[in-house]
Amino acid sequence: MEKRIIYLDNNATTRVDDAAAAAMLPFLTERYGNPSSIHTFGGSVMAEVEKARMSVAGLLNATGRDREGRASEIIFTSCGTESDNAAINAATVLLPKRRKLVSTVVEHPAILNTLDVFRRKGFEIELLPVDDKGRINLADLEKAVDSNTALVSIMLANNEIGNIYPVKEAADIAHAAGALFHTDAVQAVGKVPIDLSDGKIDFLTLSGHKLHAPKGIGVLYVRSGVRFTPFVIGGHQERGRRGGTENVPSIVALGCAAELARANMAEERVKLAELRDHLEEGVLKSIPSVRINGDRQNRLPNTSSISFEYIEGESILLMLNMFGICASSGSACTTGSLEPSHVLMSMKLPYTAAHGTIRFSLSKYNTREEIDYVLDKLPPIISRLRSMSPYWENRKK
Ligand code: PLP
Repeated sequence: MEKRIIYLDNNATTRVDDAAAAAMLPFLTERYGNPSSIHTFGGSVMAEVEKARMSVAGLLNATGRDREGRASEIIFTSCGTESDNAAINAATVLLPKRRKLVSTVVEHPAILNTLDVFRRKGFEIELLPVDDKGRINLADLEKAVDSNTALVSIMLANNEIGNIYPVKEAADIAHAAGALFHTDAVQAVGKVPIDLSDGKIDFLTLSGHKLHAPKGIGVLYVRSGVRFTPFVIGGHQERGRRGGTENVPSIVALGCAAELARANMAEERVKLAELRDHLEEGVLKSIPSVRINGDRQNRLPNTSSISFEYIEGESILLMLNMFGICASSGSACTTGSLEPSHVLMSMKLPYTAAHGTIRFSLSKYNTREEIDYVLDKLPPIISRLRSMSPYWENRKK
């Protein structure tokens, strides 16, 4: 019998929607032409790329159009990481006299490690702190941004704790100082409504594989009127703003996923929040010494970061894995270290809690029955691990 999989790791990646997979297939087989070709076989594919561009623009309510009516604010890239890199690069090229970049301590490594490279190039980098719920304080941003600031980059939603950040207000603060504003919206797009029509956001990053499109396709939104310099330099693709032959099958699939997200988001948000709350309530009821991390008033509907104090997150994951339950831990073990994640540490979570943190991230494919299965398996796993933990034994009661 095939092992049952309960996939609760959707902030890592998502299942490609069947409709999106079906939409991309013809572009791998019958319609494999290069959209830049003069012949109709290739050139006709460009219409499909433009259709997908319009669908992505629709999901973001990005209303900018060029003279031909194309959604000119959407640039297809290879992933969220590339889009993040491209936005930071573009801001520093556009405002060359400004040598400061402002962001937050809870960003994804795609931002933090890129900022580190700019620090080594001589830029001043200021990262805003967060409080114990992972929230930023806009007064800190007011203080940090000055006439030397080229870019403020603040994520729309955090991948570990799900917090949603006040990016429109932050953009106003950046603009008042003449700086540009970027938001990494990789975890937010498709989960919460986004409206770029007010022109407040200059750059926005999204990634296909977080919203049921394939891996290896991303978008950088660049507001009309921002002069953009390409990060990937090459041919004239994407109107000279991103070199490289377009990943047509994935672009078409992303267009399809964007249409589905737009049509179903309102309903899915409610369902996801119900499932997440059911999970959290069940855990709180059946397991002692547990904390739910993040800003519970203002977070993504699909994300739950839970600390099971006095045990190791990795051990919990391994035991969940035996039951086919996929989640992820709050440590940076993928980088070879077992240090708790920078997000949890910046929230000053006690070490004993940060170490035992699990992120459950849901999608439209999850069911209440799956959550009940998790709620059945989890309490005995936690008590078993605690029975072997000297920290649990010695805890202050
Ligand atoms: N930004 C955030 C907030 C993310 O969660 C991720 C992926 O986990 C990325 C950027 C990187 O996206 P990609 O995997 O498409 O490079």
